[in-house]
Amino acid sequence: MRKLDLNGWEIYQLDATRFALDGGAMFGVVPRVLWGRKIKPDERNRIPMATHPLLIKTDDSLVLIDTGMGTGWDEKFRDIYAVEERDLFEGTDFGYEDVDVVIATHLHFDHMAGAVDSEGKLLFENADIYVNSFEMADALFPHARSRASYVAERIHPLRDRVVLVEGTREILPGITMIQTGGHTRGHSVVLVEKGDRAVLFLADLVPTVHHVHYPYIMAYDLYPVETLQKKYEIYQEAVKYGWILAFEHDREGRMGTLYIESGRPVLQEI
Ligand SMILES: [Zn+2]
Repeated sequence: MRKLDLNGWEIYQLDATRFALDGGAMFGVVPRVLWGRKIKPDERNRIPMATHPLLIKTDDSLVLIDTGMGTGWDEKFRDIYAVEERDLFEGTDFGYEDVDVVIATHLHFDHMAGAVDSEGKLLFENADIYVNSFEMADALFPHARSRASYVAERIHPLRDRVVLVEGTREILPGITMIQTGGHTRGHSVVLVEKGDRAVLFLADLVPTVHHVHYPYIMAYDLYPVETLQKKYEIYQEAVKYGWILAFEHDREGRMGTLYIESGRPVLQEI
């Protein structure tokens, strides 16, 4: 767990589930000889990853962006994805009941399955849960290309509990869901602004620090050219305003600011 002060708001980069995904699927059209220099795959060609949801203690609310994978997965699932289940709130003084708002960047199992236990019980009893409306529809009715990423038993319990968001919307003062599309139709990133500082939670727009360069786009993305366009757009603002970028999927939590050098985005880690 890593903690950051944002002009008085506490930002926690949590250490949730550890897992692994196929390196080829994670790097799309980038050849293995190139991505293999940045990160070493295991004997099953999987690269080590994790989920790092962002917990924000504002002046009056506790807000969680994504939940990780949660617990209670069966042996087959844990084997396929090399899952190591962990306590979402480890290292903080908070628990599920303290969370006022949950924001879902999208409903893939590695982002939001942790909202529900293996019995289908919602774990955030006191929270309003915000989900993009396209994402909710697509998660309830997946197609053959997207089905493996949506686990029905962890999505259906959310159905009557979520607040649907269309497009880009400020959820609380200073906390804005920005629909990017790309990875999925309704995929969203979240901007957290307090005073003159801001953190942008990138979710699957840029899943790890190794995906900062423009063509490093996952094969999982349903609309990869949209991802590319959004990277250009969001990077321009991130550079202009000095946003801190928070990455969700590196094995260890990573954050940094961006600058452009000879047309290429370069991350300055903090
Ligand atoms: Zn995803």
